[in-house]
Amino acid sequence: MTAKPEVVEVEGWFGSDSDGAYLVGSRCTACGSYFFPKQTFACRNPRCGSTELDEVPLSRRGRVWSSTTNHFAPPPPYPAREPFEPYTVVAVELPAERMVVLGHLVRDADPAALRIGDEVEVVIEPFYESGDATHTVWKWRPVP
Ligand SMILES: [Zn+2]
Repeated sequence: MTAKPEVVEVEGWFGSDSDGAYLVGSRCTACGSYFFPKQTFACRNPRCGSTELDEVPLSRRGRVWSSTTNHFAPPPPYPAREPFEPYTVVAVELPAERMVVLGHLVRDADPAALRIGDEVEVVIEPFYESGDATHTVWKWRPVP
């Protein structure tokens, strides 16, 4: 009998439902500011300081604000693949939340085809494997 590979995700950072993946953020009930990763202690708006924060799903789609491709492996503890494969990091603006969220571009997308303003959606993909575990992370996938 073969053990089924375990799937490991960063708990509390993202989820999925029948509509697909979403990031888990928080929204201040006093000033309406959004945060990702979610804040649990206090609002980070210096003019607010409220401690009332609701956990909320963030918009699933946003627009490319910027991107860059990393051609060198980050130092440990970053789990770089061997041999190292360049990867693209995308800064995505979520208009409703008025925030920018970083994430990898999905592996099967062409970074050269990515343009500022392109619509992308959040998806959950494998990030790296260790032992029998597959660690997942959110990534941005261009919307056709
Ligand atoms: Zn606030």
